[in-house]
Amino acid sequence: MILRFLGTGPAAAIPRAGHTDAACVDARREGSKSRRRRSSALVSTRSTTILIDVGPDVLEQLAEACLRKIDAVLLTHVHADATGGLPLLNRWVEDRCFSTKLPILTDRKTAAWLVEYYPHLEYLQFVIIKSFDRVRIGDLHILPFAVEHGDVPCFGYTFGNAFAYASDMSGMPSASAKALRRVGTLILDGAFYFHQKKLQKHFTTDEAIAWAVAHGAKDVVLTQIGHTYPPHRVAERELRAYLTRENITGLRVRLAYDGMKRRFT
Ligand SMILES: [Zn+2]
Ligand SMILES: [Zn+2]
Repeated sequence: MILRFLGTGPAAAIPRAGHTDAACVDARREGSKSRRRRSSALVSTRSTTILIDVGPDVLEQLAEACLRKIDAVLLTHVHADATGGLPLLNRWVEDRCFSTKLPILTDRKTAAWLVEYYPHLEYLQFVIIKSFDRVRIGDLHILPFAVEHGDVPCFGYTFGNAFAYASDMSGMPSASAKALRRVGTLILDGAFYFHQKKLQKHFTTDEAIAWAVAHGAKDVVLTQIGHTYPPHRVAERELRAYLTRENITGLRVRLAYDGMKRRFT
């Protein structure tokens, strides 16, 4: 099973037009890891491909991943950076003449909002799921779990005991944390850089690390990396220094970047 990060950025992609700060300048370099599109990921095995979230960058992301087929889409929540590309995805499915509608898995409230916002998604089919429903798509076993993200319903997803993906969160109910106990790698929201919290609904780098330590995590990848971060290389260096300074051992933490891949057996 391969996890590929298609986007690792915040609600507005990086670089931003006209910006001259260090991260935006670095992001304009060819191949820069500071360049970040809206957070999204692809989970694939030999027979099955799943897309997590459909932001406004979805067509570019699918083209880069050379995708011809998707078996299902998992949505984390309703915000535009996770769902704003649904009309584009609808057209993408239409162009590829899929024999069936593409299933879009989400909770009831989010589906109702999205049907209202986008009434013409003829090639997509919303499938309602609840927290802790066991979902099987092809050979993938998935468990949605509720996380806290402002005032909208929001899911993270586990893929067996290999990894969990929760790109938008500021905490989670204890039942969800319990479901992650045996999961090897946690992909977590690290939206704001150390001590630069701008919105309650996301973690800062240090909050995500503190949460991971408190819950006994061993391997963490932070995504949803926002505009308060310095260039990727600087942030990675400062992250390593922080772990050393705080004497945090037995926990590996990395920053995701667009195109990053992780293989799980
Ligand atoms: Zn900027
Ligand atoms: Zn959000």
